[in-house]
Amino acid sequence: MLSCKEIAERSSALIDGELSAWNALQIRVHLAMCNGCSRFIAQMRMTDQLTAQVARIDEPLQHEAEDGRFAEILSMLRKDQPRR
Ligand SMILES: [Zn+2]
Repeated sequence: MLSCKEIAERSSALIDGELSAWNALQIRVHLAMCNGCSRFIAQMRMTDQLTAQVARIDEPLQHEAEDGRFAEILSMLRKDQPRR
């Protein structure tokens, strides 16, 4: 059984799909039983997706802005992006 610390250490490899099937399975087992880690991974995935979108879209927010929280996170991420 992996510890929460080990999950955190492997989280980015998991999201990038860089783990072996066995390692990924061990993490899934842990996530199924551990609320803290499962929330942590969900947040990591969301941040990852948002970052990918920010990198792709260079236009003002459109319909995504209807979800206030989403827009807030997105604009926060955008501020962190270096200007080109
Ligand atoms: Zn855990």
